[in-house]
Amino acid sequence: MELCDYRVTQLARMLRQREISAFDLMESVFERIDVREKLLNAYITLTREMALKQATAADQRFQNGEPLSILDGIPIAIKDNLCTQGIRTTCGSKILENYIPPYNATAIQRLTDAGAIIVGKTNLDEFGMGSSCENSAFGPTRNPVNPDYVAGGSSGGSAASVAAGESIIALGTDTGGSIRIPAAYCGIAGIKPTYGRVSRYGLVSYASSLDQIGALGKTVEDCALLLNSICGNDHRDSTSANVPTPDFLATLNRDIKGLKIGLPVEYFVEGLDKSVKEMIMQAVNLLAEHGAEIEEISLPHTKYAISTYYIIATAEASSNLARYDGVKYGFRTHQAVKDLVQMYEETRSQGFGQEVKRRIMLGSYVLSAGYFDAYYRKAQQVRTLIKQDFDQAFQKVDCIIGPVSPSLPFKLGEKIAEPLQMYLVDIYTVSLNLAGLPGLCLNCGTIDNLPVGFQIIGKSFDEETILRAGHFYETIKNESI
Ligand code: GLN
Repeated sequence: MELCDYRVTQLARMLRQREISAFDLMESVFERIDVREKLLNAYITLTREMALKQATAADQRFQNGEPLSILDGIPIAIKDNLCTQGIRTTCGSKILENYIPPYNATAIQRLTDAGAIIVGKTNLDEFGMGSSCENSAFGPTRNPVNPDYVAGGSSGGSAASVAAGESIIALGTDTGGSIRIPAAYCGIAGIKPTYGRVSRYGLVSYASSLDQIGALGKTVEDCALLLNSICGNDHRDSTSANVPTPDFLATLNRDIKGLKIGLPVEYFVEGLDKSVKEMIMQAVNLLAEHGAEIEEISLPHTKYAISTYYIIATAEASSNLARYDGVKYGFRTHQAVKDLVQMYEETRSQGFGQEVKRRIMLGSYVLSAGYFDAYYRKAQQVRTLIKQDFDQAFQKVDCIIGPVSPSLPFKLGEKIAEPLQMYLVDIYTVSLNLAGLPGLCLNCGTIDNLPVGFQIIGKSFDEETILRAGHFYETIKNESI
C-alpha cells in the first residue's frame, strides 16, 4: 500500500505526528497519476507544481505545530464545474475550454482555508449531463476497477481519482445522481447533501433547483470529514440554508439499535438487476441483525420520477446555458459570420456537444408557450407529489435504503447511442434531488469483480443519521468478512 491508498483519518494522524510529510504524500499521489492517468483520464487539468509548493507550505505548518485543520496537506480532486481561481474550469465542454475563473467557489475557498491541496480538476459529462462520464469534450473516464467499464457520471473523474489513489478525497456535484452513481460504479462512498446544505456559489449551474455539491471518499468517515469543512450558510447563494452545521464526526460512532429503515416496494421490482438486489438485501439483513428495524414503505410516484426530472432539469439547463453565446466569455467561433445571430448559432453549434444540445432543445420545448402547462407546470406538480411521498414515509422511518443504479457498471460505448437507456440509469437517484433530500452511496460488495453500491436516503438536513448508519454498516461489513 502506498501513501495515496490511505484514508484521510489515517493520513491526518501520520502528518500530525510527522511520520510522513505532506510533500511525500503529494508525490505519492502524482506517482500514481503518472502510472494510471493515461488510461483512466480522470483529470482534465493537473496542478502539480502548485500542489507540491503548497505541500511544502503545509509541512512548514506541521513543523510549527500549527496545522490549519484535519484536512491540512490532504490532496483533493475537484470536479471541473467548480470555479477555482486561476485554474482552468471547463465543465467538460469545448465552450469553456480556456475559461479561467477570477474567483473561487465558496466550497473551494473553505477547503483551501482548511489547508486541503488541489491536485487537479476532474473529468465530467459536459455540464454534468450524463450518467457515465462519456459525454466529455475531453474524452471518457475509465473505471479503475476495470478500464473496459465506465466510471459512472457525471462526477466520474472525481470518483475514479479517489478509487485509483490519484487523490485522497474529491468534490463532486449531484443534480440527479452524479455523485452517487460514479461512487457506486467505482466502489467508493459518496454523499449528496440536502439541497441548501452546501453553498452553490461558484458551481457552474446545470439545473439550479437540483444541483448540490457533495463529497466522495474511500469511506463514509472521509466523506463526513470533507462535509464538515464545506457546509454552512453563505450570503452569496440565496438558496443556501441558514441552519447550523453539526459536527458530522461527533455522532458517527453511535449505535444503530432501533433505527427504523424503510424499504420502498417500488424500488425492488422488475428493472432492478437480480444479483444487485440480492447484494443490497444482504446489506439490509446485516443491519437488521445488528438491531435496525426494517419496514416496508411505499413511494407511489416513483414511476414518474424520470420524466419529471428530465423535464425540470432540461428546462433549467436551457435557461442556464443561454449565457454561452460567444460574447461574455468562453469559446467563440473562428468562422467568418455575416451577423450577430449567425455568430451565436455557429458558436453554440461548435461549442456544445451532442447531449447538451439535445437537452437545450428539450428544455426550450417544454418551456415554450404552447407546451408550458402540459410539461413544465405538470412536472412541477408531480415534483410536489414525489416530495410528499417521502414526507409520509419519513413519518414512519428514520431513513430509507434503496439501490443507486439498476444494474452493474456497463461497458464504454454500451449505452451512448441510446439516450433513453442512459436516462434510465438515474431511476433511483433523481427522486432525492427533486425532493431536495440527502443521499449516501456506499459499497456493499462486488459481482463479477464489479462494485455494487446502495444508498441510504435521509430526512431533510439529517445527514447525521445516514452517515452514522453508513459508517456502522462499513464497520460491521469489515468485521463480517
Ligand atoms: N444523469 C443525470 C443527468 O444527466 C444526472 C446528472 C447529474 O447529477 N449531474 O441529468
